[in-house]
Amino acid sequence: LSTAPPPRRTGHALVPRLLGQGYGEAQIAERRRWVEAETGCRLDEVGATTMAGEAMRGNVENPIGAAQVPLGVAGPLEVHGEHARGVFYVPLATTEGALVRSYERGMAAITRAGGATVRLLADENKVCPVLTYTDAAAAVDAARRLPELLPELAAAGGATTRHGRLLAAVPTVVGRRLIVAFSWSTGDAHGMNMIVRGSDAACRLLAERTGAVDRLALSGMSSEKRPSGALLAGGKGKRAVAAVRLPRRVVRAVLGTTAERLAEVWHATVLGHLSAGTIGYNGHLANGLTALFIACGQDVANVVNCAVGVTDLEATAEGDLHASVNLPSLTVATVGGGTGLGTARECLEMLGCAGTGKAPKLAEIVAATLLAGELSFGAAVGSGEMVAAHETYGRNRPDSPAAADSGGDEARAPEAAS
Ligand code: NAP
Repeated sequence: LSTAPPPRRTGHALVPRLLGQGYGEAQIAERRRWVEAETGCRLDEVGATTMAGEAMRGNVENPIGAAQVPLGVAGPLEVHGEHARGVFYVPLATTEGALVRSYERGMAAITRAGGATVRLLADENKVCPVLTYTDAAAAVDAARRLPELLPELAAAGGATTRHGRLLAAVPTVVGRRLIVAFSWSTGDAHGMNMIVRGSDAACRLLAERTGAVDRLALSGMSSEKRPSGALLAGGKGKRAVAAVRLPRRVVRAVLGTTAERLAEVWHATVLGHLSAGTIGYNGHLANGLTALFIACGQDVANVVNCAVGVTDLEATAEGDLHASVNLPSLTVATVGGGTGLGTARECLEMLGCAGTGKAPKLAEIVAATLLAGELSFGAAVGSGEMVAAHETYGRNRPDSPAAADSGGDEARAPEAAS
């Protein structure tokens, strides 16, 4: 077989419609060959996937194969939640060398200290349609009628879903526009498809009852896949807190620093966050979120809103460290979306989180994982080992001989810090 790429065509053709509908293996292969011919590249790796074409239906259009991301595991992580109880090994999909090792170090500290306490304070996802009225007075009248109309709106929205339940409708009037924040309980689903549909039905009824002249399903106020102060203050999804008290000997032995040093890192870096106008305060919540989300078939774009959170590091009078992560906008699912795809399903099973009744448990494990990442990150910043850790674990220079394998030499390697 020739390894030379096929000659490149010069057209600007759309992916053929006929192939666009097909999820059969032959259709996927044919579409891939068509792309190879159009672009002059080879897609052998993209095509070498165990994922069945039909399994991708509902998750992607015009399939040509699968993108693969390296998958590591970090643990043991001891969690004391109300849904997640026990020791977990957490799958993390990433290309950032040092990330898994870093989370693993934080998990070792948490577990050595007896485990992380995790609680969920709220569990609701939001959609915010906008209705337009003839004038501001009419918009205000409609807003005032919302409480009285809520049961009817809940019935109309609820008729579109078996698992979704409309909990609240909170108005914001801007001129002659009425934005309504519909909050839904979404069971084990992330719920955006579910609640956009349900909110649309509720909104249609609201428009009829209140004489709106126009309406849009989305206003932007829900901050889905966008960061905002509203997420930090008001939340969206599950509101989670994960906390641990690390005895000073654990801080020293596992993190190689002191509680006082970590508190100083917190103080100095919170000033940087404030100076940048950052929404929330945290070391790198997005890292663990992204790696877990890819592994477990979550909607990865939700990292943008889920990563709006606050990390707190505090030295106690005894020299212990009290650490917490506070996540007001955590959306995770164990049903729907990409959770049923082969590798995602297996990763969820690794956590005992596949299927019905498991979304709160997954949320608690995610929160404890992020706490581990924050601890390790803070320790790395405080001890100045960030650069060394990435040099040891995270370099992959394309123009130099293969990096030496540091495996088995962890005693002398700098601690990882993603
Ligand atoms: P989905 O895969 O579209 O639907 C999941 C469905 O599973 C639910 O609607 C529900 O049906 C059913 N279900 C079965 N058992 C359930 C259980 N135990 N708990 C909850 N539901 C259960 O997923 P989704 O969560 O609604 O939406 C997530 C997807 O929406 C993501 O892939 C995301 O990319 C996408 N998304 C959509 C929008 C949008 O504007 N529509 C925006 C952002 C993201 P019933 O409803 O009949 O109960």
